[in-house]
Amino acid sequence: MRTDFGIHMKGGVITERDADFCTIRIRAPAGIFSVEQLRGIAKIAKKYGTGTVHCTTRQTLEIPHVNHVLLKKIEKALAKNETPVGSERDEIVNIIACPGVERCKFANIDTISLAQKIDKKLFGKEMPVKMRIALSGCPNACTSPMLNEIGVIGRVRPLRTPGLCTGCGTCVQYCKEKAIVIRNGISELKEDKCVQCGVCIQSCHFDLLKAEHRHFLITVGGRRGRHPKIGRELLTVETEEQVIFIIQKIVDWVYRRAWSGRLLSEQLDELHFEKFRQDIIAQGMPDTNDNSAKKPSL
Ligand code: SF4
Ligand code: SF4
Ligand code: SF4
Repeated sequence: MRTDFGIHMKGGVITERDADFCTIRIRAPAGIFSVEQLRGIAKIAKKYGTGTVHCTTRQTLEIPHVNHVLLKKIEKALAKNETPVGSERDEIVNIIACPGVERCKFANIDTISLAQKIDKKLFGKEMPVKMRIALSGCPNACTSPMLNEIGVIGRVRPLRTPGLCTGCGTCVQYCKEKAIVIRNGISELKEDKCVQCGVCIQSCHFDLLKAEHRHFLITVGGRRGRHPKIGRELLTVETEEQVIFIIQKIVDWVYRRAWSGRLLSEQLDELHFEKFRQDIIAQGMPDTNDNSAKKPSL
Protein backbone atom coordinates (compact mmCIF):
# COMPACT_ATOMS: atom_id res chain seq x y z
CA MET A 1 0.00 0.00 0.00
CA ARG A 2 1.28 3.49 -0.84
CA THR A 3 2.35 5.79 2.02
CA ASP A 4 0.60 9.16 2.09
CA PHE A 5 3.44 11.66 2.51
CA GLY A 6 1.01 14.56 2.98
CA ILE A 7 -0.21 13.12 6.26
CA HIS A 8 3.28 12.00 7.20
CA MET A 9 4.35 15.65 7.11
CA LYS A 10 1.74 16.71 9.67
CA GLY A 11 3.24 17.89 12.95
CA GLY A 12 1.14 15.51 15.04
CA VAL A 13 2.54 12.48 13.17
CA ILE A 14 5.82 11.52 14.83
CA THR A 15 8.02 8.85 13.24
CA GLU A 16 9.16 6.22 15.75
CA ARG A 17 12.53 4.44 16.08
CA ASP A 18 11.16 1.84 13.69
CA ALA A 19 10.43 4.18 10.77
CA ASP A 20 7.50 2.07 9.59
CA PHE A 21 5.54 3.21 12.66
CA CYS A 22 4.31 6.57 13.88
CA THR A 23 2.93 8.04 17.08
CA ILE A 24 -0.15 10.17 16.49
CA ARG A 25 -0.51 13.19 18.75
CA ILE A 26 -3.99 14.63 19.25
CA ARG A 27 -5.14 18.25 19.37
CA ALA A 28 -6.54 18.92 22.85
CA PRO A 29 -6.81 22.60 23.84
CA ALA A 30 -6.35 22.88 27.64
CA GLY A 31 -6.24 19.07 27.80
CA ILE A 32 -10.03 18.73 27.91
CA PHE A 33 -11.78 15.65 26.44
CA SER A 34 -15.40 14.54 26.79
CA VAL A 35 -15.96 10.97 27.93
CA GLU A 36 -17.37 10.22 24.46
CA GLN A 37 -14.18 11.48 22.86
CA LEU A 38 -12.10 9.36 25.27
CA ARG A 39 -14.15 6.28 24.37
CA GLY A 40 -13.60 7.07 20.69
CA ILE A 41 -9.84 7.49 21.20
CA ALA A 42 -9.71 4.14 23.04
CA LYS A 43 -11.45 2.41 20.14
CA ILE A 44 -9.17 4.08 17.57
CA ALA A 45 -6.05 3.15 19.58
CA LYS A 46 -7.19 -0.45 19.68
CA LYS A 47 -8.02 -0.55 15.98
CA TYR A 48 -5.00 1.27 14.54
CA GLY A 49 -2.37 1.07 17.30
CA THR A 50 -1.51 -1.46 19.99
CA GLY A 51 -4.37 -0.59 22.34
CA THR A 52 -2.36 1.84 24.46
CA VAL A 53 -2.56 5.62 24.80
CA HIS A 54 0.20 7.85 26.15
CA CYS A 55 -0.39 11.08 28.17
CA THR A 56 2.03 13.81 27.08
CA THR A 57 3.56 16.70 29.00
CA ARG A 58 1.48 19.11 26.91
CA GLN A 59 -1.87 17.90 28.23
CA THR A 60 -2.73 15.80 25.25
CA LEU A 61 -2.86 12.12 24.32
CA GLU A 62 -0.96 10.26 21.68
CA ILE A 63 -1.59 6.90 20.06
CA PRO A 64 1.66 4.97 19.69
CA HIS A 65 2.77 2.46 17.11
CA VAL A 66 0.50 3.14 14.14
CA ASN A 67 1.73 1.58 10.89
CA HIS A 68 2.40 4.35 8.34
CA VAL A 69 0.07 2.74 5.80
CA LEU A 70 -2.85 3.43 8.17
CA LEU A 71 -2.21 7.16 8.58
CA LYS A 72 -4.97 8.35 6.28
CA LYS A 73 -7.51 6.12 8.00
CA ILE A 74 -6.55 7.12 11.54
CA GLU A 75 -6.59 10.77 10.57
CA LYS A 76 -10.17 10.39 9.32
CA ALA A 77 -11.24 8.42 12.39
CA LEU A 78 -9.76 11.04 14.75
CA ALA A 79 -11.41 13.90 12.85
CA LYS A 80 -14.78 12.11 13.05
CA ASN A 81 -14.23 11.70 16.81
CA GLU A 82 -13.67 15.50 17.03
CA THR A 83 -10.14 14.88 18.36
CA PRO A 84 -8.08 15.70 15.25
CA VAL A 85 -4.36 15.14 14.70
CA GLY A 86 -2.33 17.70 16.64
CA SER A 87 1.00 19.42 16.03
CA GLU A 88 4.57 19.05 17.26
CA ARG A 89 6.90 20.68 14.74
CA ASP A 90 7.80 24.33 14.13
CA GLU A 91 4.25 25.50 14.63
CA ILE A 92 1.92 26.55 17.43
CA VAL A 93 1.50 23.36 19.45
CA ASN A 94 -1.10 22.23 21.98
CA ILE A 95 -2.15 25.12 24.23
CA ILE A 96 -2.15 24.12 27.88
CA ALA A 97 -3.98 25.52 30.88
CA CYS A 98 -4.49 24.81 34.58
CA PRO A 99 -8.09 24.38 35.88
CA GLY A 100 -8.43 28.13 36.54
CA VAL A 101 -11.60 29.59 38.06
CA GLU A 102 -13.60 26.58 36.92
CA ARG A 103 -12.14 24.49 39.78
CA CYS A 104 -9.16 26.00 41.58
CA LYS A 105 -9.72 28.19 44.65
CA PHE A 106 -6.51 30.14 43.94
CA ALA A 107 -7.41 31.10 40.38
CA ASN A 108 -7.73 34.70 39.26
CA ILE A 109 -8.72 34.05 35.62
CA ASP A 110 -10.66 31.60 33.42
CA THR A 111 -7.70 29.76 31.90
CA ILE A 112 -9.59 26.97 30.15
CA SER A 113 -11.96 29.13 28.14
CA LEU A 114 -9.09 31.49 27.23
CA ALA A 115 -6.89 28.56 26.10
CA GLN A 116 -9.74 27.31 23.91
CA LYS A 117 -10.16 30.75 22.33
CA ILE A 118 -6.41 31.00 21.63
CA ASP A 119 -6.47 27.49 20.16
CA LYS A 120 -9.29 28.41 17.77
CA LYS A 121 -7.32 31.37 16.49
CA LEU A 122 -3.77 30.08 16.35
CA PHE A 123 -3.36 26.31 16.80
CA GLY A 124 -1.17 24.62 14.19
CA LYS A 125 0.03 27.81 12.48
CA GLU A 126 3.39 27.05 10.85
CA MET A 127 6.19 29.13 12.33
CA PRO A 128 9.97 29.53 11.91
CA VAL A 129 10.33 28.19 15.49
CA LYS A 130 8.14 25.99 17.68
CA MET A 131 5.76 28.09 19.79
CA ARG A 132 4.35 26.76 23.05
CA ILE A 133 1.67 28.68 24.94
CA ALA A 134 0.74 27.92 28.57
CA LEU A 135 -1.79 29.57 30.88
CA SER A 136 -1.89 29.57 34.69
CA GLY A 137 -4.66 31.01 36.81
CA CYS A 138 -2.31 32.43 39.46
CA PRO A 139 1.40 32.94 40.23
CA ASN A 140 1.63 29.36 41.55
CA ALA A 141 2.14 28.74 37.83
CA CYS A 142 1.24 25.04 37.84
CA THR A 143 1.61 24.82 34.04
CA SER A 144 5.05 26.51 34.13
CA PRO A 145 4.01 29.35 31.77
CA MET A 146 7.40 31.02 32.14
CA LEU A 147 9.04 27.95 30.60
CA ASN A 148 7.04 28.42 27.40
CA GLU A 149 7.63 30.76 24.44
CA ILE A 150 4.45 32.58 25.54
CA GLY A 151 3.08 32.40 29.08
CA VAL A 152 -0.04 33.92 30.64
CA ILE A 153 -0.51 34.25 34.42
CA GLY A 154 -3.62 35.55 36.19
CA ARG A 155 -2.84 38.00 38.99
CA VAL A 156 -4.64 40.39 41.28
CA ARG A 157 -3.57 43.34 43.40
CA PRO A 158 -4.75 43.45 47.01
CA LEU A 159 -6.15 46.78 48.26
CA ARG A 160 -6.73 47.54 51.95
CA THR A 161 -9.82 49.40 53.12
CA PRO A 162 -8.06 52.30 54.84
CA GLY A 163 -8.47 52.94 58.56
CA LEU A 164 -10.32 49.75 59.50
CA CYS A 165 -7.53 47.17 59.89
CA THR A 166 -7.47 45.67 63.41
CA GLY A 167 -3.94 44.34 63.01
CA CYS A 168 -5.14 40.79 63.80
CA GLY A 169 -2.40 39.36 61.55
CA THR A 170 -4.48 36.71 59.76
CA CYS A 171 -3.43 37.99 56.33
CA VAL A 172 0.21 37.84 57.49
CA GLN A 173 -0.21 34.11 58.21
CA TYR A 174 -1.68 33.49 54.74
CA CYS A 175 1.00 35.31 52.75
CA LYS A 176 3.71 32.83 51.79
CA GLU A 177 5.92 35.61 50.47
CA LYS A 178 6.25 37.39 53.83
CA ALA A 179 4.97 40.43 51.95
CA ILE A 180 2.70 41.67 54.79
CA VAL A 181 3.88 42.90 58.19
CA ILE A 182 1.97 44.42 61.10
CA ARG A 183 3.37 47.83 61.92
CA ASN A 184 1.83 50.29 64.38
CA GLY A 185 -1.17 47.96 64.77
CA ILE A 186 -2.09 47.77 61.08
CA SER A 187 -1.09 45.63 58.10
CA GLU A 188 1.50 46.99 55.72
CA LEU A 189 2.55 45.59 52.36
CA LYS A 190 6.14 45.10 51.27
CA GLU A 191 5.49 45.76 47.64
CA ASP A 192 8.74 44.32 46.35
CA LYS A 193 7.86 40.92 47.84
CA CYS A 194 4.22 40.69 46.72
CA VAL A 195 3.66 38.38 43.73
CA GLN A 196 -0.01 39.43 43.35
CA CYS A 197 -1.45 35.98 44.00
CA GLY A 198 -4.47 37.39 45.85
CA VAL A 199 -4.47 34.73 48.59
CA CYS A 200 -4.54 37.33 51.37
CA ILE A 201 -7.75 38.83 49.97
CA GLN A 202 -9.79 35.80 51.01
CA SER A 203 -8.16 35.60 54.43
CA CYS A 204 -9.44 38.79 56.10
CA HIS A 205 -12.46 37.96 58.32
CA PHE A 206 -13.45 41.62 58.21
CA ASP A 207 -13.45 41.70 54.41
CA LEU A 208 -11.04 44.62 54.39
CA LEU A 209 -8.92 43.38 51.50
CA LYS A 210 -10.31 43.80 48.02
CA ALA A 211 -9.16 42.65 44.60
CA GLU A 212 -8.15 45.96 43.09
CA HIS A 213 -6.74 45.03 39.72
CA ARG A 214 -7.33 41.60 38.19
CA HIS A 215 -5.03 41.22 35.22
CA PHE A 216 -3.05 38.96 32.91
CA LEU A 217 0.75 38.96 32.94
CA ILE A 218 2.19 37.94 29.55
CA THR A 219 5.69 36.45 29.47
CA VAL A 220 7.84 35.71 26.43
CA GLY A 221 10.91 33.69 25.52
CA GLY A 222 10.89 30.82 28.00
CA ARG A 223 11.57 27.21 27.16
CA ARG A 224 12.12 23.77 28.68
CA GLY A 225 14.29 21.00 27.30
CA ARG A 226 17.99 20.96 26.54
CA HIS A 227 18.64 24.61 27.42
CA PRO A 228 15.86 25.66 29.81
CA LYS A 229 15.22 29.36 30.17
CA ILE A 230 12.80 31.47 32.20
CA GLY A 231 10.65 33.76 30.06
CA ARG A 232 10.60 37.49 30.68
CA GLU A 233 7.70 39.70 31.70
CA LEU A 234 6.50 41.51 28.59
CA LEU A 235 3.47 43.43 29.80
CA THR A 236 0.14 43.17 31.59
CA VAL A 237 -3.35 43.47 30.11
CA GLU A 238 -6.80 43.51 31.60
CA THR A 239 -9.12 41.54 29.33
CA GLU A 240 -9.14 38.23 27.44
CA GLU A 241 -9.50 40.15 24.19
CA GLN A 242 -6.31 42.06 24.96
CA VAL A 243 -4.47 38.80 25.76
CA ILE A 244 -5.49 37.34 22.40
CA PHE A 245 -4.59 40.59 20.64
CA ILE A 246 -1.09 40.69 22.16
CA ILE A 247 -0.45 36.98 21.55
CA GLN A 248 -1.42 37.49 17.90
CA LYS A 249 1.07 40.39 17.71
CA ILE A 250 3.83 38.25 19.22
CA VAL A 251 3.05 35.42 16.79
CA ASP A 252 3.07 37.87 13.83
CA TRP A 253 6.42 39.26 14.99
CA VAL A 254 7.96 35.79 15.31
CA TYR A 255 6.48 34.74 11.95
CA ARG A 256 8.01 37.72 10.14
CA ARG A 257 11.22 38.38 12.04
CA ALA A 258 12.45 35.21 13.75
CA TRP A 259 14.68 32.89 11.83
CA SER A 260 14.68 29.08 11.81
CA GLY A 261 17.18 26.89 13.60
CA ARG A 262 17.61 29.04 16.71
CA LEU A 263 15.48 29.10 19.84
CA LEU A 264 13.21 32.10 20.26
CA SER A 265 14.71 32.57 23.73
CA GLU A 266 18.15 33.06 22.12
CA GLN A 267 16.73 35.44 19.53
CA LEU A 268 15.25 37.59 22.29
CA ASP A 269 18.51 38.05 24.13
CA GLU A 270 19.39 41.09 26.23
CA LEU A 271 20.04 43.29 23.26
CA HIS A 272 16.89 42.45 21.37
CA PHE A 273 14.26 42.11 24.07
CA GLU A 274 13.60 45.82 24.59
CA LYS A 275 13.39 46.36 20.83
CA PHE A 276 10.98 43.41 20.62
CA ARG A 277 8.78 44.89 23.39
CA GLN A 278 8.72 48.26 21.62
CA ASP A 279 7.80 46.57 18.32
CA ILE A 280 4.86 44.82 19.98
CA ILE A 281 3.64 48.00 21.69
CA ALA A 282 4.17 50.16 18.60
CA GLN A 283 1.79 48.02 16.56
CA GLY A 284 -1.07 49.71 18.38
CA MET A 285 -2.43 47.95 21.41
CA PRO A 286 -5.90 48.22 22.81
CA ASP A 287 -6.11 49.81 26.27
CA THR A 288 -3.24 48.07 28.14
CA ASN A 289 -0.46 48.77 30.60
CA ASP A 290 2.78 49.13 28.72
CA ASN A 291 5.06 47.38 31.19
CA SER A 292 5.06 45.06 34.19
CA ALA A 293 2.07 45.32 36.52
CA LYS A 294 1.80 48.32 38.78
CA LYS A 295 2.82 47.71 42.36
CA PRO A 296 0.04 46.43 44.61
CA SER A 297 -1.07 48.29 47.68
CA LEU A 298 -2.50 47.11 50.98
S1 SF4 B 1 -1.75 27.88 38.72
FE1 SF4 B 1 -2.94 28.66 40.43
S2 SF4 B 1 -5.04 28.66 39.64
FE2 SF4 B 1 -3.87 27.28 38.34
S3 SF4 B 1 -4.11 25.25 39.27
FE3 SF4 B 1 -2.21 26.14 40.06
S4 SF4 B 1 -2.86 27.04 41.99
FE4 SF4 B 1 -4.72 26.74 40.79
S1 SF4 C 1 -1.24 39.08 47.04
FE1 SF4 C 1 0.79 39.67 47.77
S2 SF4 C 1 0.47 40.18 49.91
FE2 SF4 C 1 -1.30 38.97 49.27
S3 SF4 C 1 -0.80 36.85 49.77
FE3 SF4 C 1 -0.15 37.18 47.64
S4 SF4 C 1 1.97 37.81 47.81
FE4 SF4 C 1 1.10 38.03 49.84
S1 SF4 D 1 -6.16 43.33 56.79
FE1 SF4 D 1 -7.68 42.01 57.81
S2 SF4 D 1 -6.61 40.09 58.20
FE2 SF4 D 1 -5.04 41.62 57.74
S3 SF4 D 1 -4.41 42.40 59.75
FE3 SF4 D 1 -6.01 43.77 58.98
S4 SF4 D 1 -7.91 42.98 59.80
FE4 SF4 D 1 -6.40 41.36 60.03
